[in-house]
Amino acid sequence: MRRPMVAGNWKMHGSRGENARLVEELIGGLPPAASADCVVCPPFVYLQEVGRMLRDSPIALGAQDTCAEPQGAFTGEISAGMLKDIGCKYVIVGHSERRLIFRESDQLVARKFAAAHAKALIPILCVGEQLADREANRTEEVIARQLDVVLELCGPDVLGQGVVAYEPVWAIGTGRNATPQQAQDAHAFIRARIAARDARIAAETRILYGGSVKAGNAAELFAMPDVDGGLVGGASLKADEFLAIIAAAR
Ligand code: PEP
Repeated sequence: MRRPMVAGNWKMHGSRGENARLVEELIGGLPPAASADCVVCPPFVYLQEVGRMLRDSPIALGAQDTCAEPQGAFTGEISAGMLKDIGCKYVIVGHSERRLIFRESDQLVARKFAAAHAKALIPILCVGEQLADREANRTEEVIARQLDVVLELCGPDVLGQGVVAYEPVWAIGTGRNATPQQAQDAHAFIRARIAARDARIAAETRILYGGSVKAGNAAELFAMPDVDGGLVGGASLKADEFLAIIAAAR
């Protein structure tokens, strides 16, 4: 049985004051026994402070990225061990903004996944096609390539200890979400790809949908059989929207 999960990616948004208000509203609005795992991923500089606010709450702390190297002369980078040290449970790797704007390769993303797992973090691996890929019928080819590199480096067992997020790039921050059927098709493809290596692990791996998830569309997306929750950007910055999305993931 896969436990539903909703993760909020705050991206490069927030301030100490805004974060405090948002976290207070989230903690205050969560039902006592939430039946979905809830995660927020603030920018690096706010992780510790937000972590303190989340203490004793059911909301877990996640980071938005990690360095693939464990330590050393990598100015500006943050290692998975450091994230673990300050209380992170999850870390996003391979977000399309990292892949496209910061030119992260499939190989680098796979190494980040392995680095996170090695420090007992739960990596959230983002995969997804750009609009041109979808229009050229290359959606599955792109997802398979992004997934296979991680499967090859880490193996299905390690992949299954993480989380996969299907995030079609054309749906991120655009207000244009994938239809529930488009999401289901991609998620079923991802699960089948993992199942080709290990059917048991595929059945247990959580696959989140991300791309313009809102209170108004979450329930129909999460109702699809292979959609196990959401990775939420913009709507995770508004407590009422994010709480409604969490409620839809039950
Ligand atoms: C994201 O950044 O991972 C994301 C899904 O953003 P949004 O929900 O704003 O589309």
